[in-house]
Amino acid sequence: MYLPRFAYERPTTLRDASTLLRENAFKNALLGGGTDLLPRMKYGLAEPERLISLKGLEVAPPKILSEGELRLSGALTLAALASSPEVAQKAPLLAKAASKVATKEIRNVATLAGNLCQDTRCLYFNQSHTFQFVEPCFKRGGDFCYFVPKGKKCWAVYMSDTAPALICLGAKIEVTGSKGATIIDLENLYSGDPKHPLNIKHDDIVSAIIVPRSRGSQGCGFSKLTMREGIEFAALSVAVLLETTDDLKTCSRARITLGSVSSAPVRGLKGESLLEGESISKPLLKDVVREICKEVNVIPHHGYSRSYIAGMLKIEALNALTRAVNQLTGGR
Ligand SMILES: Cc1cc2nc3c(=O)[nH]c(=O)nc-3n(C[C@H](O)[C@H](O)[C@H](O)COP(=O)(O)OP(=O)(O)OC[C@H]3O[C@@H](n4cnc5c(N)ncnc54)[C@H](O)[C@@H]3O)c2cc1C
Repeated sequence: MYLPRFAYERPTTLRDASTLLRENAFKNALLGGGTDLLPRMKYGLAEPERLISLKGLEVAPPKILSEGELRLSGALTLAALASSPEVAQKAPLLAKAASKVATKEIRNVATLAGNLCQDTRCLYFNQSHTFQFVEPCFKRGGDFCYFVPKGKKCWAVYMSDTAPALICLGAKIEVTGSKGATIIDLENLYSGDPKHPLNIKHDDIVSAIIVPRSRGSQGCGFSKLTMREGIEFAALSVAVLLETTDDLKTCSRARITLGSVSSAPVRGLKGESLLEGESISKPLLKDVVREICKEVNVIPHHGYSRSYIAGMLKIEALNALTRAVNQLTGGR
């Protein structure tokens, strides 16, 4: 499997990267670590004529700002995130999720922004099409779905591990485009449209990720279901962040976000509101899991049936919630 021919630029400043990207925007693609984009190019699923690599930029290390926020460069590698003392202190949920992405080799080059901006995936789409499919599927611009042959829409799934964690943390992203930098909630980056999953323009760069300061004592849990551990995308992932009042029992804020169940990360909103303002107990956690399973309509994907993912959601959600509670109470 070979890469097609392409031109390559390696700007050294964000401004130059942004300028280059705007020249003939639709023929360019941003390149972080390339671990999502290059395989798609090899399969003929992305055909940029020029890659604008962000590897020439100086990457600021994770920084705790004076207000207590954590600022992360979009070009930070997942390995750097997972081993950063600042991230461990301010956003351990993100460190955990980053450490669960793919393999060490991939994490050494893959970037945080690339992880957040990865494309949606489908067992039938992420293949070489030269020998497989005559009729293009919805995601390739056609009007057919190989996964659901009578389906009227694309069923591709968004599978980033760090996005659910960052959404729980209430992260914002800095987007650098033609009009300078703007800040948006990470949750609003995702359109929910599997064909065009991101709400940013083709020439926008996710330049930084900002994690707000925590408001109280926090406990977090991240649970990822895969068949073969390391080199696999999640069949399902669950990120949980719980904040408590001083007594460490009453939940003042709960955030639960699921990955790999839909075309965007999905919040377990009803589960969150069951927890908020309540005293945390084992029976309550079980009610929360029941509520999440009722409210979230999981999409089957990559050979995992809907009933398998829904069944495992009960286990993985309880795992993540229990980890968060244990972290808060020290296991008491
Ligand atoms: C074997 C294998 C296993 C994997 N397992 C997992 C897994 O378990 N979990 C998981 O989440 N991912 C997984 N991945 C996918 C991928 O490796 C990661 O998502 C990785 O973090 C992507 O980052 P990158 O820097 O390599 O992205 P790239 O491939 O460089 O870019 C990905 C997309 O984002 C765009 N992009 C890059 N940087 C920016 C930016 N700053 N602003 C805007 N757009 C940008 C690119 O144009 C491209 O469309 C796996 C990949 C492989 C090959």
